[in-house]
Amino acid sequence: MWGKDMQPSVRSAMEKALQGKTTHFDALSATVKGNLKWWDVLVTPVIDANGKITSLLATSRDITESKNAQEAIHKNEERFRTLADNISQLAWMADDQGNRYWYNQRWYDYAGTTLEEMKGDGWKKIHYPENLELVLKKMKHSWNTGEIWEDTVMLKGKDGKYRWFLSRAIPIRDDAGKVIRWFGTNTEITEQKELIETLNTTVDKLRLYEKVVINTNDGVLITEADPIDLPGPRILYINNASCRQTGYSEEEILGQSPRMFQGPRTDRKELDKMRNALSNKVPVKVEVINYKKNGDEFIVQIEIIPLIDENGKLTHFVSVQKEVTEQVIANKKIQESEERFRNLANNAPLWVWMADENINIVYSNDELLKYIGIADPREFTGHTWEKVVYPEDIQLVYKTFGEAVSSQKAFSIECRIKNSANSLYEWHYIKAVPRFEGNMFNGFIGTGVNIQEQKSSLSLLEYRKALLEAFNESSNDGILLVDTKGGIISYNHRFVEIWNMPKDIVEAKDDRAALDFAMKQLVNPGQFIDRINWLYNHPREKSIDELHFKDGKVIERHGYPVVAEDGSYYAWSWTFRDITEIKKAVIALQQSEQNFRQLSELMPEKVSRTDADGNAIYYNRSWLDYTGLSFDQLKDWGWSKVIHPDDIEELTRLWTHSVATGEDFEMEFRLLNKKGDYCWHLSRSAALRDENGKVKSWVGATTEIQKIKEEEQRKGDFIKMVSHELKTPVTSIKGYVQLLLSMLKPGKDLDYSAIPLHSSLERIDKQILRLTRLITEMLDLSRIEEGKLELKKESFILKDLVTETVQDVLHTSTSHSIELSIHFDGKVTADRDRIQQVLINFINNAIKYSPNNKLVKVEIDMSQNNQVAVSVKDFGLGIDTQDQEKIFNRFYRAHGKDEGAFSGFGIGLFIAKEIIDRHQGSISVKSELGNGSVFTFLLPIGI
Ligand code: ADP
Repeated sequence: MWGKDMQPSVRSAMEKALQGKTTHFDALSATVKGNLKWWDVLVTPVIDANGKITSLLATSRDITESKNAQEAIHKNEERFRTLADNISQLAWMADDQGNRYWYNQRWYDYAGTTLEEMKGDGWKKIHYPENLELVLKKMKHSWNTGEIWEDTVMLKGKDGKYRWFLSRAIPIRDDAGKVIRWFGTNTEITEQKELIETLNTTVDKLRLYEKVVINTNDGVLITEADPIDLPGPRILYINNASCRQTGYSEEEILGQSPRMFQGPRTDRKELDKMRNALSNKVPVKVEVINYKKNGDEFIVQIEIIPLIDENGKLTHFVSVQKEVTEQVIANKKIQESEERFRNLANNAPLWVWMADENINIVYSNDELLKYIGIADPREFTGHTWEKVVYPEDIQLVYKTFGEAVSSQKAFSIECRIKNSANSLYEWHYIKAVPRFEGNMFNGFIGTGVNIQEQKSSLSLLEYRKALLEAFNESSNDGILLVDTKGGIISYNHRFVEIWNMPKDIVEAKDDRAALDFAMKQLVNPGQFIDRINWLYNHPREKSIDELHFKDGKVIERHGYPVVAEDGSYYAWSWTFRDITEIKKAVIALQQSEQNFRQLSELMPEKVSRTDADGNAIYYNRSWLDYTGLSFDQLKDWGWSKVIHPDDIEELTRLWTHSVATGEDFEMEFRLLNKKGDYCWHLSRSAALRDENGKVKSWVGATTEIQKIKEEEQRKGDFIKMVSHELKTPVTSIKGYVQLLLSMLKPGKDLDYSAIPLHSSLERIDKQILRLTRLITEMLDLSRIEEGKLELKKESFILKDLVTETVQDVLHTSTSHSIELSIHFDGKVTADRDRIQQVLINFINNAIKYSPNNKLVKVEIDMSQNNQVAVSVKDFGLGIDTQDQEKIFNRFYRAHGKDEGAFSGFGIGLFIAKEIIDRHQGSISVKSELGNGSVFTFLLPIGI
């Protein structure tokens, strides 16, 4: 944009910015549609984490309008000063109170003083003291009324001599017509003055001084005093200067009236004023337009002094005519220039102000006054400005002003100034040029522009930059930005940390060097570099890769091409996330999942898992083995096929409820095994939840409880049987007792022989024995269950016990015959009663379960391992192989499940086994269904 013709200001701003400083400059840009455009440019260096300048950030603002206005004002001001310095008068400017603040070069040349000495009312020092009071009085009148001030004054030159001056000051007004300052001139009139004084004393001396008069540049006319009115007094004398002024010859003028010089634009008011004064015999001074012979206008200042003779009679008028055309035109120009300056300044879209050498504001334009909320410019004078500048900036303002004065150069500064509209301090860009008179500094003329918007947009940028940096640095991910040429654009602290990257590599910003360093740390560097190269050649691809470090670290790398809106790509963004811990956790989770599965597979329980919605995702081996179905057959409610039809409805209801509410599930139901049998199961499922309590999945354990169920069933049966078994003998006893009682009723003749007393009592005794045995068995059962079955061991001859028992049984049971064969007659050490109890149970069972075969064989024999075997054999019903094991369990009955078929509780063999086990013996059965059974117990000998 700037090309090789870069402006020096731009170059220096750039250089400054490259040193890390924010700088301002006005840049002139190329011509836009034939007009020059100006921009106010703010250049800010963008500094990276290491304090390096990575780029320059420039914001610009179109200031063409304000720049042009500013220039016009400067030009006008310049023109005014040049003009004022070149007029022949001593010129000055004063504020509305008449305080002088500027003088032109002629002043200094004449008085030999400095501005310093003349300022304010310092000029009085060169004024002739004796008539000063009168002069001041007249001046004051003008300051108060705004009327033009005019007076003749005596001023001291640098040679120490006083000279006469015609002093005039014109007011300069603002748009509202208010006087805001005064512009004054002093025209030297010493010679005329001296001449007039001479004339005043005697007319005769007039000619004596003719020479002097002729030598002056001012015209001199002497007329008669009468008539003042038409046709006017005759001209008696005219000097050469007057002829030159008017273009007439002496002959043409003499005898005529001064009216010959008047014309259409001659100010009548001035003439009236003159006439009045002269009628009153007082000197007068007027300024009128006169006409030359050729018709040209010229402006002339006419001072007329009436000459009065010794008798007090008015004789002549002496008129000194000074052509002021040039001066008036110059004054007019100055006035115009002033006005233009003011107009421009007041209409400028920027502030314009002027300050004196003590930084007292002497002028401020409307824009500025409006901003600071002051209506009357007189209120914003002196150091009032300090009240609106941000207190912290005041020092800087003074400092900058001071530097500008000493360097004699324009300055610019940014400071905050209070906006009266919102009471906020807003940033302004103040620019000013110091003014010098010779080497003397006499103030500033300056401008000001509101740059709040720019400032805040800049600070927004700075804020964003800071935010981005903070974000970058606070990220737990390493971040690396690489340009298309392999240069590192930026990186964060975490990146360096993750890669353990040496400073010199990252600071060199060479991605290739960084890659080489990175490769050294990786388990698989080849794969890494191949992937990177591939990605750099495929700038449309996003990527996520896992990088495995030799030290076990695992980093997840995300790659994003940075693509502009137009699709061109200009950088790669890489982020690096340390996922070592996550990885470990995942592995641990997988491990735990595996453990769970392994464990589940080994468990006899049926373990299953479902997702949060209750859809099966896993069945363990036990499930598959039991049902004979595969996972695919079981999933998606396939399991419902193996539920007993009577249970399916309730199960569906409960499971649906649990899935909906997250409540635990528990139910007993029947499950079909692969053999086609339903077995009872207890199933429980509980929800697994995430950290927020949301159900993730369900784990179910289903346990077969068929045996427990059967046991329960048997218990129920047992109770039924017990009541039945107990009721039978009691009913029987009750029957016999009632029979006997009825027979033995008193009052009757009793035939005792007819009463079956013996047989009845025998029956009763038998039933009591049965009852006793039942009760004993029950007591034994509870003793066994409580572990309180005690043995009273003694040594006895076994065959005696067996023989005795057989006889006892035969005594009560006459239906069967018992065959006894004894092949051992030694002793055993055991609880005699308990062994007998076992034997009785064996023999009674043999009788009970052989209703059709009446023989029972009892045998005592030696067995292996120094044991004696006692066996009881029958030829009755026999026992199914399946039942042979179970009959030693509590309440298990292979026969007699139908109530009343065979009496019994199913606990005799359970007690028998317990008794023999406690003798360190063993109990067994051999049987074939329909062909009888052999029950045997073995006891150790000689214990
Ligand atoms: P109970 O005979 O009171 O039912 P037990 O414990 O003595 O109780 O016997 C259990 C079961 O064993 C019996 O119900 C019966 O079915 C079977 N049992 C026992 N002894 C024999 C036998 N000698 N012949 C056939 N079955 C038998």
